[in-house]
Amino acid sequence: MKIINPATEEIIGELEPDTLKVLSNKFEALQSSQPDWMEISLSERKKIITRFSDLIGLNIESLAATLTNESGKPLSQSRNEIKGAINRITWLLQNAEKNLSAEIMTEENGLEEKITYEPLGVICNISAWNYPYLVGVNIIIPALLAGNTIMYKPSEYAILTGIEIEKLLKASGILKDVFHLAIGGKDVGELLLGLSFDGYFFTGSYKTGKYIFEKVASKMVPCQCELGGKDPLYVTDDIEDIRSVAVGTADGAFYNNGQSCCAVERIYVHQKVYDEYCEAFVEQVKSWKVGSPEEEENYFGPVTRKEQLIVLENQVNDALKKGAKIITGGKRINRTGYYFEPTVLIDVNHDMLVMREETFGPVIGIMKVKDDEEAVRLMGDSDYGLTSAVYSSDKTRAENILKRINSASGYWNCCDRVSAPLPWSGRKNSGFGVTLSNAGLRAFVQPKAWHLKS
Ligand code: NAD
Repeated sequence: MKIINPATEEIIGELEPDTLKVLSNKFEALQSSQPDWMEISLSERKKIITRFSDLIGLNIESLAATLTNESGKPLSQSRNEIKGAINRITWLLQNAEKNLSAEIMTEENGLEEKITYEPLGVICNISAWNYPYLVGVNIIIPALLAGNTIMYKPSEYAILTGIEIEKLLKASGILKDVFHLAIGGKDVGELLLGLSFDGYFFTGSYKTGKYIFEKVASKMVPCQCELGGKDPLYVTDDIEDIRSVAVGTADGAFYNNGQSCCAVERIYVHQKVYDEYCEAFVEQVKSWKVGSPEEEENYFGPVTRKEQLIVLENQVNDALKKGAKIITGGKRINRTGYYFEPTVLIDVNHDMLVMREETFGPVIGIMKVKDDEEAVRLMGDSDYGLTSAVYSSDKTRAENILKRINSASGYWNCCDRVSAPLPWSGRKNSGFGVTLSNAGLRAFVQPKAWHLKS
């Protein structure tokens, strides 16, 4: 398989996908080493993960260069992602003991009741490309800390980064056969579904997640799905500084070229501030430079996958046919690489794909609403339920709106944000299961109840 730089369309690597035989051998090795990995103490495992994190920190520049090369993510955003991953690892390390150690629940009259947290065994992690370090550590770190061994299948669009992660784990002293990569694309993912893993942890699109969930159901093992979103944001009429809200929310929509699972995908603005907001929003978008992701001044690089250009074109054309107007952008950029103009659409409505289906690129629709009731109705009118955001000077007003939206994260005066102490999860077609937070540390263990009578 060929690895292509989305900014230059040059082939930057060529790899042989794993065959079923190779994958089966890796799986068996992971199975036989799992008891040894589980037997070493949590503090030993923490030391290894700490070294891994330190090594990432020492290599930020070269890791960022690789990530930018294969994903088209601007260099500064690649560095940010890697630093963000280190912060997450730190939190997970600090909270591992509390969540993974045995708990004595009762000690009286010769009765001891306790809970121990045992690893699931060998887990399979099939992953996405848009934040390979961040979505990678969400699974890999708590799973390893808990004593599981892992088959990690990076996306075919983030495979060089997957190889870097494996190298650094090895260099940090991880036991042999505790972590293996599955090299390949969809077909290799498919082969992994045929092996007998003790748990499947998937990050990716709704379509693939649903397929995987159905396919592994009969195995009766945990299957967790972190999927896509169509995240709404509402700007109320009590905003004092509309300009700064426009700047912050434009970043929420366009950071990483809009290729974030929690990117702002739909914007609703109260009619009283709509014109002012749209003007400031588009001014901000136009101020950002588009160009080579290797040049520091560029905020927008290419999108990562060539096929996504067609999705973006379809959404824009569909919106235009149904009455939307473009206030900036609207088409592919005529140059080498998978570049699309940052695009802002107004006069949009919920008959349009751009307000219903995940865009995952630099295109956003802004819709005028008459009051909070209409905003709540439209925000909730989606098959997805990942995050929702409200901008307002009034915290109670924002919280009351967010309570009525069926999404797994609620943001007041912020957006496009993930935080290690808080659970990261989805609802509806955005999936289920939890990573990060105390609950995410416990996602890779099975509790065992001990009833001990003397
Ligand atoms: P994708 O579903 O196309 O691919 C994800 C992974 O699944 C890849 O490794 C791919 O090779 C593999 N795969 C594809 N078909 C398969 C099959 N039939 N069997 C087994 N494996 C298969 O998703 P993507 O394009 O890599 O990622 C983008 C999507 O991920 C977006 O929808 C985004 O919102 C979502 N995402 C969600 C989160 C979250 O935490 N909720 C985080 C990042 C990305």
